[in-house]
Amino acid sequence: MSVLSAEQLTGRVRSHVIDLPDAGGTLHPDAAAAFLGLRAAALQSDIDLAPVSTFRTFQHQLSIWNDKFHGRRPLLDQRGRGLDPAVMTDEQVVGAILLWSALPGASRHHWGTDIDVIDRAALAQGQRPQLIPVEYASGGAFARLGTWLPRHCEDYGFFLPYDLDRGGVRPEPWHLSFAPLSSKALPALTVAVLAAALTDVELAGAAVVRRQLADIHTRYVCAVAQPGAAALAAGLAAGWLNPAARPS
Ligand SMILES: [Zn+2]
Repeated sequence: MSVLSAEQLTGRVRSHVIDLPDAGGTLHPDAAAAFLGLRAAALQSDIDLAPVSTFRTFQHQLSIWNDKFHGRRPLLDQRGRGLDPAVMTDEQVVGAILLWSALPGASRHHWGTDIDVIDRAALAQGQRPQLIPVEYASGGAFARLGTWLPRHCEDYGFFLPYDLDRGGVRPEPWHLSFAPLSSKALPALTVAVLAAALTDVELAGAAVVRRQLADIHTRYVCAVAQPGAAALAAGLAAGWLNPAARPS
């Protein structure tokens, strides 16, 4: 299985991904084939597994980051309550952004291997998913999906990297990762690769980020669940069966 380049790892190119016209979204072809298999299996259980976020570019992540830093998008604390960046230090703002959003270059969504999913069949007409844990817990709109995913995603090569609070990213029961590829991408995304991607970029709070980069890398990139052997093996098989044209 191919290993991603530094530019692919940090979302600065899209040469490693393809668009999925039917399921929607943009993914690495191996992850796309596996996702279509998982989606078909979910349909058997009357779950309409739909991606709400797939591949994301560096520029997109940068605009989210800068908007939050400057108060153009809501900035939230640990419990999801609104904060006012105008009365906070740069260190505090950077810490608050990182609770809910990745540093540009450090998002797993850059890899084309990671997908945020909902059960479209469980959405009421006009209802918008919020991607918050209560939706996936008992009594939530996506409670069935929240139970189904951990039981079945490994059969198609996926795992849930943000299963628990590990002191960095908050738990995300909606975030799937295609193990055979993301398990190679993670060690390739070093502090040096990240630092190079952030050079000559208009990043708000850049001085704080530069000073804390090694710590941010440890807490928000490395502190994730490890995929099990079943996900790695099943994902490789799905990749081999994939007849999709590879991006050049
Ligand atoms: Zn995600």
